[in-house]
Amino acid sequence: MIAATTVPAAQRAERFRPNQFRHATTIATPAAYRDGRWETFEPKPAVDRTLLGRVFRLRPGLTFTPYANPTPCNAHCSFCSEELLRIDADRLTAKRTITDYDQYFAALDRAWRELDGFTMGLSLSGLEATSEPEWLLRLLALLDEHPQLFAERVLYTNGSGLATDARLVPALARARFDRVELSRAHFDERRNHRIMRFDLAQPIRRRAVFEQTVRALRAQATDVRLVCILNDEGVSTIEGVEEYIAEARALGVDRVVFRELSVLGEIYLENRETKWIDRHRAPVRALMERVLPSADAPCEVENVCREGWALEGVTAGYYYYNEVYRRDGVEVVLEGSSYVAHRDAVESGVLQKLVFHSTMELCGDWVPNAQVIGRYG
Ligand code: SF4
Repeated sequence: MIAATTVPAAQRAERFRPNQFRHATTIATPAAYRDGRWETFEPKPAVDRTLLGRVFRLRPGLTFTPYANPTPCNAHCSFCSEELLRIDADRLTAKRTITDYDQYFAALDRAWRELDGFTMGLSLSGLEATSEPEWLLRLLALLDEHPQLFAERVLYTNGSGLATDARLVPALARARFDRVELSRAHFDERRNHRIMRFDLAQPIRRRAVFEQTVRALRAQATDVRLVCILNDEGVSTIEGVEEYIAEARALGVDRVVFRELSVLGEIYLENRETKWIDRHRAPVRALMERVLPSADAPCEVENVCREGWALEGVTAGYYYYNEVYRRDGVEVVLEGSSYVAHRDAVESGVLQKLVFHSTMELCGDWVPNAQVIGRYG
């Protein structure tokens, strides 16, 4: 069940299929998708899969995340979703780091063998996957033993380990990662630090090191996408967005995503992070309206967009929605999402996501006591 808001009947006919990119030329009214958003997503039919002796319903194309927490994170982002405790959670995975690597990787190998032949992508996230190079290198070595398992491989990172260990960037390239999504709230290092709050020993907090890291990735032909979380202490206005795009372009990056902090609804316990998110949220919808005002629909593409912007298309997933534009040769994604829609989807009886927690338990959710499949170690 993915039902956060009501979608008009006419719009229901235009649902999104998984991985569907609805090209601008086929869209009469792109702004219409802004209401209802993830509800317009039409999922692939679920399939049965036996895991640890029990049958589960799985959504083909889901992403598998080995929850990366070999160490506590070396940044302390004010909005960190890993610090958010859902009301049905009894613990946070983030608080339990991976200790016994031999046991952990043997268990992960067992899980991957059971999933062999199932269509899925690798989404390497959680805390910071590069914070402990030995853990990441072992993970890449294990990936090497499962060359066909993942249709797509993406690393989400703050870049810290890539900046300090020269082995990691070439190793990622060898492991055929399709993309590295690199978080940076602002190009100005002081403003970025106010939000991301790296440990002071982390060189990546410096702008020059961040830029060197991007260049090193690009030199290995690794696709880099910069991720900017919108908030009113960093980037929140259309002018700020355009400055960020110009900085990215000057650095040679041609893909940027501006992501609104996910909608939290009433499903998280109040803490420092939820309060910060409430106080500093910058709605992506407002930016969309500056780039392509709803009142101007139907859109004959670029002529009604803000000057310098051209709409390329829109996409949706089970809990997110994107508008994809081009500006000065840079692909710019404006993205909104809802953790409430995510929670509703993962409770639907079909596993939409697989998370391998540090306890070696495989779950269909980020919450380690929810949608539990079982322990592999
Ligand atoms: S880098 Fe990611 S895991 Fe680390 S504090 Fe920031 S949001 Fe949280």
